[in-house]
Amino acid sequence: MIQQIPVMRRCISCRKTYDRQHLLKITKDHNKGIMIEKGMGRSAYICKSNKCYSDSKIKKKLQKALKTSLEPEFIEIFEKEITSCNDYSNKGI
Ligand SMILES: [Zn+2]
Repeated sequence: MIQQIPVMRRCISCRKTYDRQHLLKITKDHNKGIMIEKGMGRSAYICKSNKCYSDSKIKKKLQKALKTSLEPEFIEIFEKEITSCNDYSNKGI
């Protein structure tokens, strides 16, 4: 018997634990660099809320959590990702 136990992870911004599905996963992949929802390696999670996405220190917290510096290319992708999520919540979807 396989039991379905929700995978709980901690948000790096608000420090609360959530079901994995409610979190955006950022991974520092050993070969491919920093990826969103992909890759294998050290990971950090951010809960899908306006509060944490609009955290002005979120990039610093990410760098600390992943123990790396963020590439400008990644920051661009990351900002697009969180902006599109914010759009969804503003529309009430
Ligand atoms: Zn959070």
